[in-house]
Amino acid sequence: MSWYQEVLKWLSIFRMKKRINLILFGPPGSGKGTQAKILEEKFSLLQISTGDLFRYELGNNTPLGQKARAYMDQGQLVPDEVTVDMLRNKLEKHPDVRGYIFDGFPRTIAQAEALDGLLHERNESVNQLIALKVEDEEIIKRLLERGKSSGRADDANVEVIQERIKVYNAETSPVFEFYRQKDLALEVEGIGSIEEINNRLSEIIQAIL
Ligand code: ADP
Repeated sequence: MSWYQEVLKWLSIFRMKKRINLILFGPPGSGKGTQAKILEEKFSLLQISTGDLFRYELGNNTPLGQKARAYMDQGQLVPDEVTVDMLRNKLEKHPDVRGYIFDGFPRTIAQAEALDGLLHERNESVNQLIALKVEDEEIIKRLLERGKSSGRADDANVEVIQERIKVYNAETSPVFEFYRQKDLALEVEGIGSIEEINNRLSEIIQAIL
């Protein structure tokens, strides 16, 4: 094999191995979890939902779960330090995946900076943030509906839902701008059938794979 063929081979191996890091973004109830689960299967990525991780800890009544409970029940964010530590642990447990879909993280600018730092240490970065756009009215409707069967305390109460939307607008939505400035943020319409929305997301992901 000539030297340039050797270089091409290693370049293609490197390309195949390059992990992709996606952020699925949007307000509570915008469908991030539903879509992330489908995308996880479709593109062999690992979904990392900080909400699910907290609920797991809560269900097992671990010290971390106990710490998170009060914030979650009131629709507040769990402090960044606690959240970032948990995320770091999760990443360390799954080093050999093709890529990650971050769902519900980062939710503050500090978390976004921490994520960039964690990925930088591995010589990686965020490849794309995709935001699902859904109006407040629709979100409240969806969350109340979900609350009937999800068993989630934070879905059952209109005031808690309104608080989560307020927190989203104040603390989380600036994260979109943070990545938009790096030319990494896109928005898709979050209204439609699950399949339609998934097709919109898949098209974007396909283009960066
Ligand atoms: P939703 O997107 O429907 O609000 P999640 O399951 O993503 O629900 O999150 C539920 C709750 O878990 C949040 O309201 C918050 O209290 C906590 N939580 C989840 N992710 C984070 C995060 N990245 N930072 C701080 N708190 C979080």
